[in-house]
Amino acid sequence: MTFEEIKNLDEQYVMHSYGRFPVALDRGEGATIWDVNGREYIDFTAGIGVTSLGHGDRGWLEAVTGQAARLAHISNLFYTEPYAKVAQALCTRSGMANVMFGNSGAEANEAMIKLARKWSFDKYGKGRGTVITLHNSFHGRTITTLAATGQDKFHNYFFPFTEGFRYADANDIGSVEAVAGHDVCAVMMELVQGEGGVLPLDREFVRKVADLCAKRDWLLLIDEVQTGVGRTGTLFAFQQYDIQPDVVSFAKGIANGLPFGGVMAGEKCRDVFTPGTHGTTFGGNPVAAAAACHVLDRLDESFLAGVREKGDYLRTRIEAMDLPCLGKTRGLGLMIGIEVKEGWTNRDLAARLIDNGLLILTAGPGLRMLPPLVITKEEMDRGLAIMEETLS
Ligand SMILES: *Cc1c(COP(=O)(O)O)cnc(C)c1O
Repeated sequence: MTFEEIKNLDEQYVMHSYGRFPVALDRGEGATIWDVNGREYIDFTAGIGVTSLGHGDRGWLEAVTGQAARLAHISNLFYTEPYAKVAQALCTRSGMANVMFGNSGAEANEAMIKLARKWSFDKYGKGRGTVITLHNSFHGRTITTLAATGQDKFHNYFFPFTEGFRYADANDIGSVEAVAGHDVCAVMMELVQGEGGVLPLDREFVRKVADLCAKRDWLLLIDEVQTGVGRTGTLFAFQQYDIQPDVVSFAKGIANGLPFGGVMAGEKCRDVFTPGTHGTTFGGNPVAAAAACHVLDRLDESFLAGVREKGDYLRTRIEAMDLPCLGKTRGLGLMIGIEVKEGWTNRDLAARLIDNGLLILTAGPGLRMLPPLVITKEEMDRGLAIMEETLS
C-alpha cells in the first residue's frame, strides 16, 4: 500500500487520539528505519524508549519465535520457564525480592499503587492510602495513573478521578514535607522525569525523600517505566542514586517491543499480594518473557558502559553544534532532553527533522532523544548531520 492509502484507511477507521507525523514506517535494522516509499530514517526514538536492542535484532527474533513455536500463551495458573527466569534475572540484578508481571507502564504503576495501599492497609488499617507524587511527573493513562500524574492538563474530561494523591515540587524536600500527613502511605516518582521534559532529579533530593520515607514508614515507589532496563546506563536508574526503593515499576524497554512490564518489590513488601488480590490475563506471557530474558542477557556491564559513552557523545556533539534554536542538553545515558529556545516550538522542530530523515521525540517544551541502545557511531553521526543541516 502507498502512504496515502494507509493514511486514508487509518484516518477513517482509527480514533484520532494521536497527533501523527506524516510517515508510514515499514521495516528497520538497528537504528535505521525505512518507510513504505523506501526512504531511510535514523531512529532517535526507539518507539519511545522501547526497542533497546534496535529493530530486527536476530537474537531477540530467535528468542521470540522459538518461544512462540513452543507455547505462545498459557494463563498465570501454571508455571513456565521464561517467566521464572526473567523474574530471577530482574531481582538478582536489582536487589529486589520478587516481581509481578503486567503488560504496560500504566498497568505496572497501577499495581505499584495497589501494592502500596494494601501494604499500608495490612499494617495500619484504613485511612492511610494517600500517595505523594511530583509536579511535572507522568505515570500513565488509566484513571488512577492520570490522577497520580502531577500535571493539571491531564486532570481533565474523565471525572471522577481516583482520590488519594497529593503533589509536591521536584527537588524541594520542603514541598514534600508540606504535603505530608497521617493519611500518606508512599512517595512515588520518576528519577528522570521523562514526558515532563527529561528532568533528572537531584541526588541530594532523592536521598532526602528516601530518608523521609524511612522515618515516616512510607514506601518509596520508583517509576522506572522509561528510565529502566539500561536506558540511563545502569540496569535501573535508582542504581545511580544510592537508594534501595521499596517498589520499582518497569515496562517500555524490557521486551524490545513486545508488551511487557511489571513491579518489583523489596523484602519489606514481598508478601503484600496474596492469591486473588491482584491479577492479569496476559501478564508474564511466555513470548514476552522469553524476549525479556534475551534483553536482560544482552545488557551486561560492558553494554551498559557503552550506553553511558554514547549518551555523552551525543550530548557533547549537540552542544558543540551550537544551533540557534537549541540550548543545553540534559539527561542520563541515552535518555536525553534538549532545550528549545524561545521563538521555536519543539513540535515544529521535530516535524522538520522527521521530514529530513531523523525520527525524534518531544518532551515537555523540549526535544527528546531515546535511540535504540545498540545505535552505532555511524548511525549517531548520520542523525547528528541531519540535525545540523536541518536546524542551522
Ligand atoms: C510511558 C510511561 C508510562 C506509561 O506507560 P504505558 O506503557 O504507556 O502505559 C508510565 N510512566 C512513565 C515514567 C512513562 O514514561
